[in-house]
Amino acid sequence: MSAPLLQIEAIEVRYQGALLALEEVSLEVQAGEIHALLGANGAGKSTTLKAVSNLLAAQRGQVRAGHILYEGREVGRSSPAELVRQGLAQVLEGRHCFASLTVEENLLTGWPAHFTRRTVLRAALERIYAFFPQLHQRRRSLAGLCSGGEQQMLAIGRALISRPRLLVLDEPSMGLAPKVVADIFAQLSRLNREEGVALLVAEQNSAVALQYAHRATVLEHGRSVLSDEAQALRQRADIQSFYFGEG
Ligand code: ATP
Repeated sequence: MSAPLLQIEAIEVRYQGALLALEEVSLEVQAGEIHALLGANGAGKSTTLKAVSNLLAAQRGQVRAGHILYEGREVGRSSPAELVRQGLAQVLEGRHCFASLTVEENLLTGWPAHFTRRTVLRAALERIYAFFPQLHQRRRSLAGLCSGGEQQMLAIGRALISRPRLLVLDEPSMGLAPKVVADIFAQLSRLNREEGVALLVAEQNSAVALQYAHRATVLEHGRSVLSDEAQALRQRADIQSFYFGEG
């Protein structure tokens, strides 16, 4: 098997003045796969994703041990902008759209500084609109007036504009109706199939994540306790009830 696209090896994370947030988390994302990161509230999903994208410092968090390798290279010291350049983009929890900018202006904020040509920019927008036709319809609307689902699509579109090979998403289903969640996961799945973009998706909604993922890792109290094929996990009712209080 070829080397994983992303390798998290036994990372430990602490926030200043707090107990350990992650004690030992390991997982691997292969090129072209959808990998779900599952676990209850507070298990450490967001912290793991922020460690990958180097966003912990803003919250006074720090990786104290372990390694994070992207395409075989240690990325612990790369800034989020450098990571985007290397093909790793993140969609944060809570979407963070600019409410007073239009949908298209929001998409353009994702245009990386190292991309320059205008013609390429138009093609990049058209590609996003092909995946999310709703964004095309709403391109001149203020983002603040868009629905939660449209804002989530916008946050994904803005990250896609940099053409990542790995897209990291934090709780894309949060606060959205089941039909909208299904639409968003279907588009993510299409993106994965048609363009080979690998996805690492943290989700509390394990049912929907396991429906679309190829593999999944389960976190419990800051530890990765299980990694397996999504199909195998779907069939384990005990996993559902034990970790997520469902089933
Ligand atoms: P949720 O789905 O609620 O976001 P999660 O699985 O993503 O949960 P994290 O947000 O990563 O979990 O939280 C892991 C642990 O780290 C929790 O105990 C949480 O209280 C703690 N934590 C998270 N952010 C901070 C912070 N900025 N400062 C201190 N502790 C934090």
